[in-house]
Amino acid sequence: MYDLKGLLPESWNCIDCGIHTAPGCTNRIEAQRMIALEQAVGKGEEDWRIKQTIDDQSELYMVRDAVWKAAGMEPMGGCLRIGCLERRLGRKLRPKDFPATIPSTICLAPRASSIGEVADETACF
Ligand SMILES: [Zn+2]
Repeated sequence: MYDLKGLLPESWNCIDCGIHTAPGCTNRIEAQRMIALEQAVGKGEEDWRIKQTIDDQSELYMVRDAVWKAAGMEPMGGCLRIGCLERRLGRKLRPKDFPATIPSTICLAPRASSIGEVADETACF
């Protein structure tokens, strides 16, 4: 079986609050099963299709390794909603917390947060 361990999350549920962070996306096991079905009908890797849907409920992002570690997270240690990550950090996220070259669904427009602050910076990626 094609192994996606370390490439896709085991679960998209936030490990703090349990809310699904990417309702239209498959987790590792689901993606591996879809690939197995593609292989079973003789499709080569270049023809595999795994539909992923991103919408306004999706929280897909990456932060710099130091930010993730400061939140007490291991690499591929699970998913966190932005509000839960900010709660762990004890502060709002800033544009510089995100790698410049990786797109994200997160917009840091002024918003109420779960820690009772309003962002003072606006950044959409
Ligand atoms: Zn959460």
